Amino acid sequence: MCREDSRTSSKHRVGSLFVLSGPSGVGKGTLREHALNNIANLVYSISCTTRQPRPGETDGVEYRFISHEKFKQDISENLFLEYAHVHNDYYGTLKADVESALNSGHDVLLEIDVQGALQVREKMPQAVLIFIAPPSVQELERRLTKRNTESQEVIRTRLNNALRELELQDKYNHVIINDDLERASQELRNIIMNNYES
Ligand code: 5GP
Repeated sequence: MCREDSRTSSKHRVGSLFVLSGPSGVGKGTLREHALNNIANLVYSISCTTRQPRPGETDGVEYRFISHEKFKQDISENLFLEYAHVHNDYYGTLKADVESALNSGHDVLLEIDVQGALQVREKMPQAVLIFIAPPSVQELERRLTKRNTESQEVIRTRLNNALRELELQDKYNHVIINDDLERASQELRNIIMNNYES
């Protein structure tokens, strides 16, 4: 997508925004990594969160881990493109990060929950919303339990949230069923590349 820069009349490419959502345990993280490793010019916007880092996570890599106080201050300063309260913590995307990447010609990928995705759609209707769905709810439960990084209570909360999220998939531009990683990954790539070329 190229837009004419009216001040200079030179072509200035503004990137496209892609939003990836889907229930916890559906494999969004893996699909996101495949897309980022295989599509030149696609960058990931690192979210802020108030949740504690999991073992192996580093501040500024997976997330910016910030305090509740700082998150609330950033909300009051209107710094977020979107934010949501998910699984008892806050998660949000900084407006400035997304704007500067798009304006420098990069395509931007967000991996955020459904509440956040719907906020992005309101503010940036040109964003491409992609929902990753599990083959079945039973399979999702099996994957979440197998991951073994959360307590039973957390897994139950995440499954309940998953059921609510699945109901909202028709608000997205595309739905990919992650029954086979290779196939789902190719489908995601096609969606992003087709949008890039149009
Ligand atoms: P996790 O704690 O497993 O890393 O992420 C939990 C959920 O928060 C996932 O569904 C993830 O997509 C969502 N999430 C991560 N970053 C953001 C964000 O910036 N905004 C919103 N709304 N959700 C986010």
